[in-house]
Amino acid sequence: SGVELPEAETRSVLSDAIQVAVRVRPILPKEAETRGAAETWRAVPHAGQVIRVGRLPTGAGGTTTCPTVFSYDFVFGKESTNVEVYEKVARPLVESALVGYNGTVFAYGQTSSGKTHTMWGSEADPGVMRRAVRDLFELARRTPQREFLIRVSYLEIYNETIRDLLHSNPAVTNVRVLEDSDGRICTDAREEIVVTAEQVCELLKNGEAKRMTGATDMNERSSRSHTILTLVIESRERAAEDSTSGDAEDSSSASDSAVRTATLTLVDLAGSERQKDAKSEGLRLKEGGYINKSLLTLGTVIHKLSEGGSAHVPYRDSKLTRMLQSSLGGNSRTAVICAITPAAAHAEETLSTLKFATRAK
Ligand code: ADP
Ligand code: MG
Repeated sequence: SGVELPEAETRSVLSDAIQVAVRVRPILPKEAETRGAAETWRAVPHAGQVIRVGRLPTGAGGTTTCPTVFSYDFVFGKESTNVEVYEKVARPLVESALVGYNGTVFAYGQTSSGKTHTMWGSEADPGVMRRAVRDLFELARRTPQREFLIRVSYLEIYNETIRDLLHSNPAVTNVRVLEDSDGRICTDAREEIVVTAEQVCELLKNGEAKRMTGATDMNERSSRSHTILTLVIESRERAAEDSTSGDAEDSSSASDSAVRTATLTLVDLAGSERQKDAKSEGLRLKEGGYINKSLLTLGTVIHKLSEGGSAHVPYRDSKLTRMLQSSLGGNSRTAVICAITPAAAHAEETLSTLKFATRAK
């Protein structure tokens, strides 16, 4: 059961329930040597805009049908760091998760656009997942009046099958999406209770390692699957006598106090590129179909939620939106970070990412 928050507070949080950010990565050194490394897209961060500075190839609808300016809540350019992206886009969701609001951050974009760089990052510049985990424990520590219990699960969705990356052999797992007695949608995935940020990072690294041994081509696999880190944050007011009596479970005053539960979900999505390669057939084509369908459904779900009202939201059309149903609707905040390359070689694919980002708002 969640907390009842004052109405005014609910409204102010929900007024910015869905935030859309676009991050333009630099041209990579290996791209710089090739044709098509010219820039088609440029970030104007202070204006919250992405502008088109080059032509689209003809046949893509031509330049006349493509706007030159796209506006978003946040735009980050090639100089941007993960700290900056995290602070502006994700940290507010981490903070509200600690007081009981569900939060979800998605990284969307074609393969090689910078999703994993943004979500996981490097040792020198950790990404959203590691920074969120670090802050979660830090903020909990600085809130001594409440007692926190944090659980983590780590999943992969590949071809509409959910794998448990915390399981010793993810390949044999087939995680189910269930409805609990309160009508909340959840999964039967393994959940580990965690007490430090380092512990979570270890779990994630181990999960990645297990996933790699099962795949013949890791890059191929990671570009075709969604990776989902879920942190369930439960808290309740610490009764004054708890600190001395030790066992909170036995204290009737503690069990009377409301337990707040919120879920913070961080998702590195599958590559959004269209499967137009002539060689894509059989299994490859099927994979592409699943990915496109789940990303299409995600776009529709976010669009319907941002419009508000009572329109039907098609959560059930994909595993991803189905499992996230309870965290996306209601008292929750969502941030979509769309990663793009400025390179002319991918101008059309980038246009479709920009359109996805526009539709999400
Ligand atoms: P994706 O996960 O979308 O497939 P990656 O995050 O793996 O893409 O990024 C592809 C390559 O581009 C990697 O070598 C990564 O280090 C680099 N890269 C991505 N974004 C940035 C950025 N903002 N600054 C510098 N390098 C980046
Ligand atoms: Mg990636």
